[in-house]
Amino acid sequence: MAKRWTCRPSSTFRRFCDALEAFGLLPLAFCQRQRPEAKGAVKYTGSVSQWQQREQAKALLAKEVGYVRKPHAGRLRVALAFPNTYFVGMSNLGFQTVYRLFNAEDGIVCERVFLPPKSEIAALKISGASLVTVESQTLVRDFDILAFSVSFEWDYTNVLTMLRLAGIPARADQRTHHHPMVMIGGAVTFVNPEPLALFADVIAAGEGEALIPPLLEAFKEASDRDDLLQRLVQTRGYYVPSFYDVHYLDSGPIQRFEARAGTGAPAVVRKAALKTTEAVDPPVTSIFTPDTEFGSRFLIEVVRGCANLCRFCWAGYNYLPVRSFPKERILELAEKARPYSAKAGLVSIALCDHPDIEEILTRLAAMGYSISPASLRLDDLTPTLLNLLRASGERTVTIAPEVGSDRLRRVVNKTITNDEILAATEMIFASGMENLKLYYMIGLPTETDDDLVAIRDLTLQMRDIMMRHAKDRGQVGRVIGSVNPLVPKPGTAYQWLPMEDDASIDRKIKRLRALTSDIENVYFNIKSERSSFYQALLSLGDRRVAPAIEAAERNGGNWRAAVKEAGVDADFYVFRDRSGDAVLPWDIIDGGMKDSFFRAEMDKALREEWTLPPKRQKDNARLLTVLQ
Ligand code: SF4
Repeated sequence: MAKRWTCRPSSTFRRFCDALEAFGLLPLAFCQRQRPEAKGAVKYTGSVSQWQQREQAKALLAKEVGYVRKPHAGRLRVALAFPNTYFVGMSNLGFQTVYRLFNAEDGIVCERVFLPPKSEIAALKISGASLVTVESQTLVRDFDILAFSVSFEWDYTNVLTMLRLAGIPARADQRTHHHPMVMIGGAVTFVNPEPLALFADVIAAGEGEALIPPLLEAFKEASDRDDLLQRLVQTRGYYVPSFYDVHYLDSGPIQRFEARAGTGAPAVVRKAALKTTEAVDPPVTSIFTPDTEFGSRFLIEVVRGCANLCRFCWAGYNYLPVRSFPKERILELAEKARPYSAKAGLVSIALCDHPDIEEILTRLAAMGYSISPASLRLDDLTPTLLNLLRASGERTVTIAPEVGSDRLRRVVNKTITNDEILAATEMIFASGMENLKLYYMIGLPTETDDDLVAIRDLTLQMRDIMMRHAKDRGQVGRVIGSVNPLVPKPGTAYQWLPMEDDASIDRKIKRLRALTSDIENVYFNIKSERSSFYQALLSLGDRRVAPAIEAAERNGGNWRAAVKEAGVDADFYVFRDRSGDAVLPWDIIDGGMKDSFFRAEMDKALREEWTLPPKRQKDNARLLTVLQ
């Protein structure tokens, strides 16, 4: 495409229009998660000018290593937005990876933009200054594409805040050729893009490695923005919501998605994913900065996906198949990053599914890295792994028994038993670890009071193992249990389930608190139903939920008021059994798993039957051979 969208007004004119728009009209909005603001971030009490924004961006750059600056001329210009603060965004490996992938293409220049800190949002509102990118401090609205990388439902309102601060209408149908094309991608678009559908010109569903090269090709060939959208819908992973009419039944559920004639849009959009990662660079931290949640930690994804098939887990189902990144490339990149970081953070969900994991960890340790995994699967723990982590200075291991009883573990398809969990606990504390963090869920199908008691009993047994080892060491650690109500997720075997109602969950929370309140060295953090309820709405909703997101953005995150103002029936989305629905909101994306498989898994859950993951099947086959 020789030139960008036609009739692009000058920056001066835009600034003028923007200033007019901003006179008292930009709504005040706040970041949903109360994160600390970046160290050294300026606290604004009055207005903030364009000049101040630019100076602040330059101050961030001065502390960074690894950012990319390229001339804009002749390139596709992408402003890559993270809908939360710099402090949070720079610790997000997905965001860093997309930045690297965009800039790896010579024909693309990609620059970052973040949600300003809370104090600055109010100041920007007063001054009417518009958002600029970090690298060249260019106005975001002057880019060809504004690409959001969205990982959490709570950041949806921040997407709208950033659009407003950039002077771009929030709704796709209010934008013209003069605005950047707004693309939304990230983990949530794998799960259910529909609540964001009215805000996106295009949704990128899938993995960045598979999505970015065809985007550049389409851009080069397209004659204008409409042509680009038409080309993208014929490209795997690209979903243009405005090309579809959604028909609803009088009773509320979706009847069908209908692709508009002449758009070339497919009946369903297939997620784009890498078939293999054998020749692909692993996602790693490419920009180092001290101003982030994880400090200058070198983050690496060594293996993608998890084949354990837990029935509630969207990450497990949606990142299949399990794919390892090349060992030598992981180590080369780690070697290169070593001058900037002494701590390696391993972010894979199934770390030990990498065939060379012990060698990788040993060699990382030999480079002088201390090693810290995001989480460890119970079936992955080995003495070698634990010893390596202990030698790296780790004192706490986080594992997820999910539930307390073997019976309920068969319902959720966590294919491990209490005996095995206790054996793993023994191994953990024998390695010298001091603390144990545990993840549990409540509100699961078929759950009874016995299952709550089982959470207490299992935790007590684990605590006893810790105490026994602590006595030998002369130092007592802690067991910390974290309990969350189940939010049934799209793209899982539980996608048709309603969330358990408030009263029932409240009862269970009270009961669990009573069961666990007086255990020495055990602390429980039990999440309330209410915050999960609105998360469930955003997770399970369709495009009719959009007005509630807009209202929540306007009122500073008061979801109860937002849902009421928008007239959205949240209970319909959260507490309704969807098993009779012919079409679910997320069916517009084909994530690769078949409904028939999920329905069969749900039936097995109710029969309390496991579906063994391949690794476990292999172990069982080996055991059988040994036994025979
Ligand atoms: S072990 Fe289960 S819960 Fe954990 S990532 Fe794998 S499938 Fe998900």
